[in-house]
Amino acid sequence: MTPPHINVFAGAYVDRISERRKDSAWQASALTSEQSLFVPIWGTQSLIQHEPTPTAVLLDRASLPAFGDHRAIFLGEFSGTATFAVGFGDDVPAPIGGYGAFTDLRFSGSLLPRHDAGLLAYARAMVWWQDRHRYCGACGAPTKPTSAGHVMTCTNQSCNTDCFPRVDPAIIVLVTDGERALLGRQASWPIGRYSTIAGFVEPGESFEDAVIREVREETNIKVSHLQYHSSQPWPFPSSLMVGFMAKAASHDVKCPDGELEDARWFSPEDFAAGRPVLPPVTSISFSLIAHWYEKCSGQSLQQTPGAQIWPAQR
Ligand SMILES: [Zn+2]
Repeated sequence: MTPPHINVFAGAYVDRISERRKDSAWQASALTSEQSLFVPIWGTQSLIQHEPTPTAVLLDRASLPAFGDHRAIFLGEFSGTATFAVGFGDDVPAPIGGYGAFTDLRFSGSLLPRHDAGLLAYARAMVWWQDRHRYCGACGAPTKPTSAGHVMTCTNQSCNTDCFPRVDPAIIVLVTDGERALLGRQASWPIGRYSTIAGFVEPGESFEDAVIREVREETNIKVSHLQYHSSQPWPFPSSLMVGFMAKAASHDVKCPDGELEDARWFSPEDFAAGRPVLPPVTSISFSLIAHWYEKCSGQSLQQTPGAQIWPAQR
């Protein structure tokens, strides 16, 4: 059996030990232990040290500004050590100096070791979710974190609604006709950049339903022979990208719904000649395109000299 393809930000690098989330004595002890580590998030930015090589900065509690225990979100054990995420509002200056720089994980994720990228993606997603669920969606009362930060519970006793971390599934698909791949571009993208077709799954749809609908809405192409490829957490802010390959059952491309400015077919020779500019290597979109290109040409897309790939780094 072929091992699963693991995209950037994916991979079970944190042992989540979810049974510990409701163990308040264990949590209290871990929160005050000198060994425990904390992932600071400032607004939506992650703390990264760039020299000598890019790595995530994890700090002990004494190295952080003071915060209440209720603000720490238990992530699990990372390399065997209890690890928490703590969010700091970006309405104040960066809370920690001297350890690195707060940067946007979207642009720095591909520079980090895979396990660091995965940990920071998890931490960012949890802090963002908690920050936007401070009030109950049912009755409007304030919520409070429970289960070590993995549930936001309504403080109104007669309501008591629990809100769980939100993940928004989106499909992403490389459609091919055997010889060419279908890519599209949005009007706001840099000139020449194209990517695979993607869109959010709607209520009442399966992933397969969403693939068929999105491709038809955005490009007028009918698809068949859907095959699951891999998935990718995309915490910008809370997506889970579910990647497919599909075969085109029609060829006439149009962009009827206006989501895309243009969609067209590209051959492996086009990619090798630098047309179009491809999505960043961090993205599942690139993984899907690279998988197909390598199958067609026997070459690595990243090592093809003429290929143009959009830089993820900033
Ligand atoms: Zn409520």
